[in-house]
Amino acid sequence: MPYINEFSNKISHERIIKNPKVIEKLKEFKIAYEVPALQGDDIIKLFQQVKVEKASHGIKFVFTVDSSSVEIPLNNNIPSATVGIVNFSVSIVDLEEKSSLASSEFIDPQKFNDMFNSSLLTFVTPGHNVILKNNLSPIQSIRLALYEFFSQKPFNSLSLLDTLYIILKSKDDKISFLCPNPECHRNIEWDLNSLNSYVGKCPTCGEDIYLSDWLRLHEALDEEWGTGSILSRFSQVNEHLVVLNLIQTIQNNSFLRNLLKNTAFIIDGPLALYGEPAKLHAHILQYLHQLKSEGFVYFGIIKSGRLKDHFTILEEKLKQQGINIPYNSFMLVNDEYRFKYVQKRPKRNKYFGQEVLYGQDFLFYSDKGKKYVLSLPYPVPEKTDVAFKEYIFKHEAYDTLPVVLDLLNRISIDLYEDAVLPIALAHKFASISLNPGVKILEIFTKSYVKQQ
Ligand SMILES: [Zn+2]
Repeated sequence: MPYINEFSNKISHERIIKNPKVIEKLKEFKIAYEVPALQGDDIIKLFQQVKVEKASHGIKFVFTVDSSSVEIPLNNNIPSATVGIVNFSVSIVDLEEKSSLASSEFIDPQKFNDMFNSSLLTFVTPGHNVILKNNLSPIQSIRLALYEFFSQKPFNSLSLLDTLYIILKSKDDKISFLCPNPECHRNIEWDLNSLNSYVGKCPTCGEDIYLSDWLRLHEALDEEWGTGSILSRFSQVNEHLVVLNLIQTIQNNSFLRNLLKNTAFIIDGPLALYGEPAKLHAHILQYLHQLKSEGFVYFGIIKSGRLKDHFTILEEKLKQQGINIPYNSFMLVNDEYRFKYVQKRPKRNKYFGQEVLYGQDFLFYSDKGKKYVLSLPYPVPEKTDVAFKEYIFKHEAYDTLPVVLDLLNRISIDLYEDAVLPIALAHKFASISLNPGVKILEIFTKSYVKQQ
């Protein structure tokens, strides 16, 4: 009986708001940060029109990963027992072939379901009140589940642990982390140059230690309440690792290597890692910098959040002032602009996203007036003061910017909130990766051969 509930809710809201004590208290409050009025004439100067036509003609394939997670109760008891499941679906689309779905206005439900079911990797982890059968503790259970997951080879070549190792080694010779045994917590150091296994033992307590422990994902486990934030942290790291794993797989294949310069890799979200595994962001930045000469395009598309909302309001407010954002124009969102119009400057950090970001955000108003928020890897191997001053906030430093903007015009996908990127793309272009695992490279190769 939703109507009655809604009705009673409304009455109780009104009663609360009219309560004199509430009215009195509200007078003491003040909004912490109010965005200043938009200076339309100044802001529009920050949008730069670009000639991007055909800049992306070399890009023939787009690769994306997307994940969805769920925590499922195993019984009806209290406390309940749960497991966490994360599904990763990947897609390589061929930009030169239109999708068979694109021909009709209505989506074939069967084909649509096939896409959702075509997951490349699935992670199943013990959640609240569930442990592995060999009587490991909840933390040990989840660490082992993570290690076994990362030991998989999504494209039958390198494992995700190999990928993690290569990325770590691109920046450091040694890694150190705290022993994940809560009773020990001593510092452990691993020399990456002499590592011959991704499993070791803590020299103090003898606990089995995995390379994946460096990511500290197990620290996001909430033993009291279930899997906590671990599923979202894990999904985010793994989406990055799968993309980098494919880059490495192609790079190691002498036949396919040339294909890298024809491929765009899109991260669904900001170029950032949050929470426990955040420190990996600096290694990814360093690693991508070392791969620059391979010529591929790598960027993030941000579908929701403050900057996306800001862009929507900005377009509206400028229109009210009689100002139109020109088509095919972009704005590099530097910290000065962001901390003035988008959000309050953080107290702790000098730069926005200092501990998490490895990419710079841009607003792009497309050739048809679509609004995109995208993120390109910083054009420097390390985030230093000089780098911010000389390169990071200068759009000229981003070589692949015209390619990315032209590509967005070309793929022009409808990214409503919560849209699943691989599926949005697969509606428009022929997806050559709807089968799990092994077949992806096979199909990719065939499609490449066809073009020669
Ligand atoms: Zn230990």
